[in-house]
Amino acid sequence: MAGWSIGKHWVQVDVREPFLTIFVDEERTRENEIPTHALGDFPLKIGKRGVLLRRVRNLDVARSEIWIDGVKVPPSEDPIPRRKPKKDTVCEVHPGGKGGYRDPGATAEAKRACGVCRVSLCDSCVAVDDVRCKACFETATTAMVKAERALRIKGPLLGVALGALVFVFGLALDIVRMAAIGLAAIALVGVRVGIGYAKERQEAKNRLPP
Ligand SMILES: [Zn+2]
Ligand SMILES: [Zn+2]
Repeated sequence: MAGWSIGKHWVQVDVREPFLTIFVDEERTRENEIPTHALGDFPLKIGKRGVLLRRVRNLDVARSEIWIDGVKVPPSEDPIPRRKPKKDTVCEVHPGGKGGYRDPGATAEAKRACGVCRVSLCDSCVAVDDVRCKACFETATTAMVKAERALRIKGPLLGVALGALVFVFGLALDIVRMAAIGLAAIALVGVRVGIGYAKERQEAKNRLPP
């Protein structure tokens, strides 16, 4: 199950009904508290940090997001290691170029290495999740947005495909009722998507920025 690396912690959300089970380093937190269909913001404590679990509508299902300091953190399939930099290195991505300090007084000491690409980072160049460099964080964010879009379309498409299959079989077997059920299923998917979309818009409008 995918999750979020926050510093040295690994956060996962299991959405089996009726309540969410939130794991922080495999320990349960806020157990039997948040119904799986509930939308909204739920504060979590991850180590010393305050993090927001946001449940948002994705047409007809709810989706989990993790926000830190107003930034949505892209999930990963596996925990991202929190790496130490090599000894006595300076930040390699600091404004000014690759370790780019001509002025010896201004070197930014590397405190961490990116858990993905291993570039050395100072405190201010590490992303909000405290494990990745900002470039790797951005790349993962792009992938997250794509995956969210794909997920959105998958459910309705499956419904339409099934409806079409029933319709075609109904025609082939000359069973009017079966063909009608197929058409009705397609219409139902359309209605559900329409309602889901309208609710989604409404909720997005009412939602406060994290
Ligand atoms: Zn830096
Ligand atoms: Zn990186």
